[in-house]
Amino acid sequence: MKLQERAAVVGIGISNMALIRYLVARGVRVTACDRTSAEKLGERAAELARLGVPLVAGEGYLEPLADHDLIFLTPGMPKHLPEIEAARRRGAAISGEIGLVLDLCRAPVIGVTGSAGKTTTTTLIGEILRAAGRETYVGGNIGKPLIEQVEAIPSEAVVVLELSSFQLQLVHRSPHIAVVTNVSPNHLDVHATMEEYVEAKKAIFRRQSPADWLVLNADDPTVRAFAAEARSRVVLFSRRADPGGRDAAFVREDRVIWRRGGRETPILFLDEIRLPGLHNQENVLAAVAACFLAGAPLSAVREVVTQFTGVEHRIEPVRVLDGVKWYNDSKATSPAEAVAALTTLPAPIVLIAGGSDKGIPFDPIAPLVAEKVKTLILMGPTAPKIEEAVRRGGYAGPIRRAADMAEAVALAREAAAPGDTVLLSPACASFDAYRNFEERGSHFKSLVEALS
Ligand code: ADP
Repeated sequence: MKLQERAAVVGIGISNMALIRYLVARGVRVTACDRTSAEKLGERAAELARLGVPLVAGEGYLEPLADHDLIFLTPGMPKHLPEIEAARRRGAAISGEIGLVLDLCRAPVIGVTGSAGKTTTTTLIGEILRAAGRETYVGGNIGKPLIEQVEAIPSEAVVVLELSSFQLQLVHRSPHIAVVTNVSPNHLDVHATMEEYVEAKKAIFRRQSPADWLVLNADDPTVRAFAAEARSRVVLFSRRADPGGRDAAFVREDRVIWRRGGRETPILFLDEIRLPGLHNQENVLAAVAACFLAGAPLSAVREVVTQFTGVEHRIEPVRVLDGVKWYNDSKATSPAEAVAALTTLPAPIVLIAGGSDKGIPFDPIAPLVAEKVKTLILMGPTAPKIEEAVRRGGYAGPIRRAADMAEAVALAREAAAPGDTVLLSPACASFDAYRNFEERGSHFKSLVEALS
């Protein structure tokens, strides 16, 4: 993709503001577009004015697309809006901030996607490569927008990118080492269909060359099937069995094994992994494979995997109070992620769930709720749907409705007895009541810390 004299940038969030600064500094005449009003954009609108960037806000915000041949979209927006389709038919280049980062980056890139485990796996990979002494940049769906520094990253460094399906719809290059953790229904409020969501994920390897690597979860049938479509070299990982192939990461008799070119190296015992849960064993296998392919030594892999205890808001221990263990899993914004926490933590569980709707069925959580949950506390617009799903799935225990997080925490306090686990694992997005899952998790933690 080539920069042009003019560009339209749609959706004025943090990463697109960074993109606009980058483009303006290179003499590109930018038009900014956003659905919300200039007033709501506040300081961002003021900065655009200072940069001399015209802002088209509110209804009609997509009109400038009609006369721009280079268009950057914010990842979270639907890509099928008529104005976008028309621009695409006209032959306009449609990209995103990360698309441009991939085009400009001189260092090798490791990209991580999947429905769950992206941040954990990306963070692990970044930590291991740092421990290996590599100059490492971690970004994409996490951290600061990489467009701010991409041109200063030397070719000897390594870049680790967390890539969402939304971002992958806006790239024209694939990373050198691509990792797919798993695929389960997610974001069906924005992606038109499950097929579109899976297709979006495939962009992580579609433009790889035969010299590149693709690391796939052999335990996930959808992900494993990607191997047949890859031009790159495939490495499978599995926590269940040896997935075969000359290169693989897997568990054999409670040990993580790495095989490269047919030669096996035992890496560590499963009980040396500090991250909780079977799902995190998968994240570790994915990270181990990617790091060895990137040239990390065994010592760095061992050092990090035996120390790393996880990222905030992911099955995060908050407090033990009167014999009750409280966990914050606010990042569980889909049913599959809540399943991971419910599988990992011991019963009896008092579960706080619910939030805003992403259009995904809640049935997958029902069997675990029936098996391990003693009281279910529901909040937000999805409460009735969750109630229906768990009742259908055989949960007979009490269901309490909470108007907000404060009431949910109070109800959980009442319901929990010594030895119980209280878990916030909403299985839903947070936008009904919060700006994001971090705000929700932090609010939960402050309420729990305040209990006496
Ligand atoms: P992502 O960045 O893909 O959202 P995270 O690492 O932030 O992934 O984890 C998000 C949520 O999913 C957390 O609640 C976490 O406990 C759970 N989780 C993490 N890894 C996996 C996995 N491999 N399979 C299922 N759930 C997972």
